[in-house]
Amino acid sequence: MADQGLFEFADIPDWEQAAAEDVQVADVVFNLPLEKPYTYSIPDEFRELLKAGMRVKTSLGRGNRSVIGYCVKVRQAESAVRKLKPIEEVLDTEPLLSQNMLELTNWIASRYLCGWGQVLESVIPAGVRRRSGTRLVSSYELSANASRIIATGKLPQKQQVVVDVLLKADGPIPAARLCELADCGPGPLNTLKKKGILTPIRIRSEVAGGMQGDVEVTQDLVLNSQQEGVLKQIIASLQSGEHRTMLLHGATGSGKTEVYIRSIREVVSYGRQAIVLVPEISLTPQTIRRFRSRFSSVAVLHSHMSDAERHWQWQQIASGEIEVIVGARSAVFAPTPNLGLIVIDEEHEPTFKQDNTPRYHAREVARYRCQQENVPLLLGSATPTLESWLRATRRQDDLLSMPDRVAELPLPPVVIVDTRNDPRINRGASIGRALFTSIGRALQDKGQVILFLNLRGYSPTVWCRSCGTGVKCPDCDITLTWHRDRQEAVCHSCDYSIPAPEKCPVCESAAVRYFGTGTQKLEEEVAAAFPKATVLRMDSDSMKKPGSHDEALEKFRHGHVDILLGTQMIAKGLDFPNVTLVGVIDADSMLNQPDMRAAERTFQLIAQVAGRTGRSSRGGRVLVQTTSPDDASVKYASKHDYLGFASHELHQRKDSGAPPFSCVTRIIFRGLNEPQVNETSRTVADKLRKAAKLKDPEVRVLGAAPAPITRLRGYWRFHIQVCAPTAERVKQLWQYVEDRLTLPDGVEMAVDVDPINSR
Ligand code: ADP
Ligand code: ZN
Ligand code: ZN
Repeated sequence: MADQGLFEFADIPDWEQAAAEDVQVADVVFNLPLEKPYTYSIPDEFRELLKAGMRVKTSLGRGNRSVIGYCVKVRQAESAVRKLKPIEEVLDTEPLLSQNMLELTNWIASRYLCGWGQVLESVIPAGVRRRSGTRLVSSYELSANASRIIATGKLPQKQQVVVDVLLKADGPIPAARLCELADCGPGPLNTLKKKGILTPIRIRSEVAGGMQGDVEVTQDLVLNSQQEGVLKQIIASLQSGEHRTMLLHGATGSGKTEVYIRSIREVVSYGRQAIVLVPEISLTPQTIRRFRSRFSSVAVLHSHMSDAERHWQWQQIASGEIEVIVGARSAVFAPTPNLGLIVIDEEHEPTFKQDNTPRYHAREVARYRCQQENVPLLLGSATPTLESWLRATRRQDDLLSMPDRVAELPLPPVVIVDTRNDPRINRGASIGRALFTSIGRALQDKGQVILFLNLRGYSPTVWCRSCGTGVKCPDCDITLTWHRDRQEAVCHSCDYSIPAPEKCPVCESAAVRYFGTGTQKLEEEVAAAFPKATVLRMDSDSMKKPGSHDEALEKFRHGHVDILLGTQMIAKGLDFPNVTLVGVIDADSMLNQPDMRAAERTFQLIAQVAGRTGRSSRGGRVLVQTTSPDDASVKYASKHDYLGFASHELHQRKDSGAPPFSCVTRIIFRGLNEPQVNETSRTVADKLRKAAKLKDPEVRVLGAAPAPITRLRGYWRFHIQVCAPTAERVKQLWQYVEDRLTLPDGVEMAVDVDPINSR
């Protein structure tokens, strides 16, 4: 028998070759930094079923380990399939991604130098991967005993709101939707479930409640002539059926959001969907309400949604039910079946760049996606990035401007206060004489005040007077920040903390001092200086609880707070008519960052915080405290002169060959063994330099050098920066070198294309 079997096997003609034309194979990618897909054979039982965009199980590598991958293409075999490993399992019944989305993710992998599978893994929500095919979502209804339990005692307000929403509804409501309607996080739902008031049930998503609920519908505003003009251009672009990127440069308070809304109205009237990307921090109930009150179906994509909620939203969007999707960075991947427009509000915000693999910039992904689908991309900002500005001035993109605020409100006057000889500051205060007087006057006139300081904690430096060194985190190359409320010195990078250091860890002297002012110390100073005023601090320490951010802003809006102080958090998109004074405590701390974009960031922050005042007939003023009153970014910001700043800064960048006149890719190495990381990075840099000399002498290779934060969470960090006229040329060179590269165990490498932070 055995002989016969062998004979039979040998006697079979080379059918793989002969029939190659009808044999299908599958290209599969994995969640790994691999450049190319792997090819597998498709067993008969999967032949009809398997399509690109489905997940499969198959073996990878020598160990024959079974792993999950994404099938990205089903195609004719080009040659013998005999040697190919088979697909072992198909995990989905429908593709998770459209052909367009496959193309988009492939582009991201190639543009941002990472694996296609890594992009897919990050783009498809975990809930979608896990539950695809099921279409069940978790929802809540009031339990049979609800009224009896509620009768036994008064509920906290948040929980009562949830109950009220359900009382008004005529059926169960999906968890995500319920949170939105009740303006709360998942906390109150869980508590109510524990109390037995809510019953969780699973329902089919088709009947999972309407998207709108009972948000008041508001009328359109009558646009002013500036808005009308811009809207006309946008509508022309929408009707052209071609892709254009439009940069809407509009002053703070010029009514950009109103223009977005009217543009989207047009898109919806074509039966298409629009995606609006906003910085995560702007996803406040106010923003959401603003869109909900104007459209009948709005989906909101938060970063703190559960897998189930995300899955539900994803399906709603894919079904075409949703008109408008509002969300943070990753909403750019929302699976709209018939996209009509993408809007990116506050285009300059760094949060649109993802900080881990895939390190994509949502603006560039949106640009590609809009090109793919032949629809316009609308970018909006009062302080556009120089990247976007340069494209607009070169007419690669269209520039639309709204230089004036609505209702003929002027932009607030900005006063630069030189604090070098300020008597109060010299005595150790953070609020100088001029600001002190202005706050007093604003409060007297019943105005509200915003104070901006971008350092949290009590004192940003713990410092030894004897040996003159800062007390640093043992794991990071960063001085500790004193948090007085916790009685701890804290590392703002890894959260390492120690009780108040009594002795200097270097010289053991007891002369340890706290230096500088963070938001906590400022809060104390303000409370002491203005004892009658109500003060509220907003920073990531005081706003840890979900929802606390919105709560704080509501308090401020209703006038329960006189002085709001905080970090970047308060610089974003707030619109409060009663704010008559904004103080920037220390413009220098932003200017002195070791970052190529320090000037740009300083300008943006001053301009954005300044934009928080003068939003009513009451007017408003801005005071900027600095020891560098002649600095260009401070000066231009004080004149609200974006054009002046942009042209000044672009000259500087051009002279130094920096972006946007070049493309930078940063290669970061990290490991526990310093000499090893150092040596590895140097070897790679040498290889890059040699390759550049040979292949593309215009490419510059800087480093290897210790990264600005050389130690982070215990890892040593070194980096290389590769600089070239185009991203494509960096890529060519890097891929040539990377193909010939083996990293020693213990050294990890990350590649960041167009980095926006240089830590
Ligand atoms: P931006 O996004 O440019 O900062 P907003 O769209 O938030 O500006 O508008 C600022 C304020 O002006 C909002 O309160 C908005 O309701 C109001 N507003 C916008 N357009 C008009 C208009 N045409 N007429 C009256 N008020 C307007
Ligand atoms: Zn010391
Ligand atoms: Zn640390």
